[in-house]
Amino acid sequence: MIGTEEYHKISELVKRSGKRLLFLDYDGTLMPLMKFPSLSAPNEDVIRILTSLASDKKNNVVIISGRDSATLGKWLGNLDLIIVAEHGALIKYPGKQWQELAEETDEWKKEIITAMENSSRKCGGSFIEEKRFSLAWHYRNASYESGNFHSRELIRTLSKMIHNTPLQILDGNKIIEVRFTKVNKGAIAKMIMNKVNPDFIMALGDDRTDEDMFSALGRDSINIKIGPGETAAGYSLITQEEVVRFLKELLLKELN
Ligand SMILES: [Mg+2]
Repeated sequence: MIGTEEYHKISELVKRSGKRLLFLDYDGTLMPLMKFPSLSAPNEDVIRILTSLASDKKNNVVIISGRDSATLGKWLGNLDLIIVAEHGALIKYPGKQWQELAEETDEWKKEIITAMENSSRKCGGSFIEEKRFSLAWHYRNASYESGNFHSRELIRTLSKMIHNTPLQILDGNKIIEVRFTKVNKGAIAKMIMNKVNPDFIMALGDDRTDEDMFSALGRDSINIKIGPGETAAGYSLITQEEVVRFLKELLLKELN
């Protein structure tokens, strides 16, 4: 929770800082979780707040997401932001092209796709999303019972398949994702932190992939978990709706 006392403490750190680094997850943090990933285009409020945050020269704003680079580029590519796609496989600095940080190899995908297709056939409403460096099986639109049952079954199957490989399973919020272990939000967050060399760091995220980021940044950062559940973050906000309000109040008060 961020009570009055905690808020005051964070606010003081913000005021005293000269160079800030903000890591913002996208889905479930800046925007609510939607039934289909393609429906979550940023609304006006989010565009406005990101534009304002980026216009303050003290702020270095990073959108750090598991989404693919084409979608993030289309939605946010014109803003003065650092954008991280696919949990750190790709990065884009303001006004620059995307850079790949992971090697591409598609061989590993075949077996995983077969297993996911198997689950999709049995679990109505679920679907597969193929990204460059990961595969995701979404079951947000399946019935609770079916999604629960088949997701656990898929996890067991995948766990056997990835044994002794460089792959990792992410058991997220109504999503199971398989990706290279070399790629994670923690590694990329640390790299950006070393590059920017800020005197204030804050990171916000709602899912398990954000825990990599919280752990990597550690006590150097004000880590804020969105929603309930166990977390390595020191602070939490109960709902996604609070995020934009919190950011506005904390960082844009002086600008408005
Ligand atoms: Mg998220």
